[in-house]
Amino acid sequence: MTTDGTISFAENKRTHWAEVILPLAVPVVYSYAVPGEMLNAMIPGCRVEVVLGKTKKYAGIIKSVFTKEPAYPTKDIIQVIDEEPLLYKEQLKLWEWMAQYYMCSEGEVMAAALPTNFKLSSEAILIYNEAYGENFEQLGNEEYLVAEALLIKKQLSITEVQSILDVHNIYPTAKLLIEKNVCFIFEELSEKYKVKTQNFVTLHPDYEDERNLEILLNDWRGAPKQMELLLAFLHFYKTEGEVQQPSLLKKANATSPQLKALEAKGIIIISKQNIDRIKSLPPLLQIDYELSEAQTTAYKTIKKSFLKTPVTLLHGVTGSGKTEIYIKLIEEQFQQHNQVLYLLPEIALTAQMIRRLQKHFGGNIAIYHSKFNNQERIELWNKVRTGEIKIVLGARSSLFLPFKKLGLIIVDEEHDPSYKQFDPAPRYNARDAAIYYAHLFSAKVLLGTATPSLESYYNASLGKYGLVELNERYSKLALPVIEIINTGQVAGTGKVSISPQLQEAIQETVEKDRQVILFQNRRGYNPYMICGTCGFIPKCTHCDVSLTLHKYTNKLHCHYCASTYSKMPICIACGSNTWQEKTFGTEKIEEELENTFPDFKIARMDVDTVRGKTAHDNLLLQFEQQRIDVLVGTQMVVKGLDFEKLQLVGILDADGLLSFNDFRVNERAFQLMEQVSGRAGRKLEVGKVLLQAINVKHPILQYVLRHDYKGFYEDELEKRKEYFYPPFSRIILLTLKHKDRETVTNAVNKLAALLRQDLEPYIVGPVAPVIGRIKNQYLMEIMIKLPKEKLSGSKYRTIINMHINQMLDAKAYRSVRVVKNVDVM
Ligand code: ADP
Ligand code: ZN
Ligand code: ZN
Repeated sequence: MTTDGTISFAENKRTHWAEVILPLAVPVVYSYAVPGEMLNAMIPGCRVEVVLGKTKKYAGIIKSVFTKEPAYPTKDIIQVIDEEPLLYKEQLKLWEWMAQYYMCSEGEVMAAALPTNFKLSSEAILIYNEAYGENFEQLGNEEYLVAEALLIKKQLSITEVQSILDVHNIYPTAKLLIEKNVCFIFEELSEKYKVKTQNFVTLHPDYEDERNLEILLNDWRGAPKQMELLLAFLHFYKTEGEVQQPSLLKKANATSPQLKALEAKGIIIISKQNIDRIKSLPPLLQIDYELSEAQTTAYKTIKKSFLKTPVTLLHGVTGSGKTEIYIKLIEEQFQQHNQVLYLLPEIALTAQMIRRLQKHFGGNIAIYHSKFNNQERIELWNKVRTGEIKIVLGARSSLFLPFKKLGLIIVDEEHDPSYKQFDPAPRYNARDAAIYYAHLFSAKVLLGTATPSLESYYNASLGKYGLVELNERYSKLALPVIEIINTGQVAGTGKVSISPQLQEAIQETVEKDRQVILFQNRRGYNPYMICGTCGFIPKCTHCDVSLTLHKYTNKLHCHYCASTYSKMPICIACGSNTWQEKTFGTEKIEEELENTFPDFKIARMDVDTVRGKTAHDNLLLQFEQQRIDVLVGTQMVVKGLDFEKLQLVGILDADGLLSFNDFRVNERAFQLMEQVSGRAGRKLEVGKVLLQAINVKHPILQYVLRHDYKGFYEDELEKRKEYFYPPFSRIILLTLKHKDRETVTNAVNKLAALLRQDLEPYIVGPVAPVIGRIKNQYLMEIMIKLPKEKLSGSKYRTIINMHINQMLDAKAYRSVRVVKNVDVM
């Protein structure tokens, strides 16, 4: 400003602008003008405060700075929030790639990537208006969804509203809700992250000298409680190194005045310190095992392969000791001061696995998974960014951490479908994104599995990836012997859950002091019931899904929207009470086992039994300690478990695994059966697998029987080629959703017609999916099968987006939601 208070033109003139990513589902990176005094602070990766619209404030991330004045008016950046960037250019590149490849916005990637507490911004928070009451009859469908969530949670951030609605502009809905007085906006701009401090107790230096300590203890008079407390303290101090006041008092059953008294006597020191929620243990780094000959060969071949191609596939049979090879490779990177990311499917991230790695890497390895709270996420984020943490073991989302100098990414169980995020956007596959990400650092990628995905094995066969095969178990034991039991021939009516042969084998195994795992991919008691008189099947009123009876709750459950219904004593269609049980779930099997084997310890593992934070690990620990004889479970029992005494595996319903209506059904079924078989007989003696099926001639079962991955692969590859499925094509699945069946049907027909103008040979559908309605929304799908090469670059996506927008332009279809899923799993 000049002295007379007017603003001179020259002062106001902007010479630089910044692209700023905001955590929104809009496909735009916004531009803002940079006031002169902020120029030096415009570091990509730093957050800036900006206004969107009239009043909305956000903390956006600077993507780039440029000097060509935009053709539209731009607002000024209000202020710079960070002095140092939260992330590096590699992460920004990953976001950009992900948004482009998976057809979402960079803002959506940002929302998924950044820990919540970094998204402080002045996120508008919708606060529920208690005075409004609970009568939502006047609300439209989308308003209703938000209002309901508000009623339960009392407040919602914009991001949360987005996750409920998944529409491009949540503002109209929010605006209406505010106008109708359902909620009000609370503007908040505060850094929520607070450093946690704690009282730590240490020994006074005088007593670090053993002799002084001895004298002190020998001459002790009176105050027996203090003496007890001191002894407890000394014990922890010597064994654990650091002693926190609360845990000491708890363990010693003492009070803080007693502790204070010891401090007053000059024996101990109490001091407030930050607690590092990520424990810093000393690094160990002594590898206390030796690789077998086969492992050594595999290890050397991997190293050689990395010289030629950055990505290598390690195809090692179950129990071949892939983890030990990973550890060797990680250690090498560590010596070179590189960072390593070790990705695992969330469910395989067990205490057992963590212990195995911590044993070697001590405090240098950090674990990252969905159960972390927001503060822990921030700490880990910062330590990865500074390079203090070298090794991260984590699930899918740890890919977003701001690595500084990444040398290697390991994708263990690379075939696992849970690497693909289903909802919300970005719907990325962490395995594929890892390959792109590693490339930005010129880092290596090792994909490991006993059952490679068709895509990866195909890439390896083309020479795009290196391929290393490890065909023997570390224990040198043969892979388990598999027998098929034809349950169609077992006498009796209905489906057999546990055949007499399996029953006998369970009996024998447990009597020999060995353990059993039974795999059944349906939870609940009766996955569906059917009226024996009229054929009526109870279904969810919100979804086209048959209901599952759960004995524990004694209710019928919908597994898609979690609604529950009371049990129907009689058929509501015909009034008879002739319910038949068509299939059986884990809960029913558990009950059957308990009746058949009253002396055995039976347990069940599925999402219903592992809801708590540690329930999953507790079950596994109990199994490891042989406090469980027979464990029945869903997919959860399949992944990565290593138990010495597990000898028998039962696959209860192979037909069920082979009956999905999906082009990957064979691949999934083979992987699940081979993986669960691979849990048996890893250490002591050759394991046994009993596989129950009615359709015993199914070709996939023959491959499972012989552990014949290659036979399976070649057979399946032929079929994929014939029907032009991946790896020969790339699939983009568009799912349209609307509460009105006619609207969604018309919209999907319109969209298909538009797409056919440009992409005729690649369009399949539209069709209604097998489950045509979920949570009151009707669904329709269009599948776009593109030749592989057409998916790289943006041309085809631009065409697809253009037609989607064209369809959405029609007034009648404006409220239709379109979900884009690239490389659908
Ligand atoms: P995979 O992941 O390939 O199925 P694991 O890495 O779990 O196999 O190894 C199987 C078992 O063999 C584990 O109990 C592991 O500790 C053990 N093992 C593998 N390699 C070695 C080795 N070189 N020295 C000692 N034990 C090993
Ligand atoms: Zn009936
Ligand atoms: Zn439902």
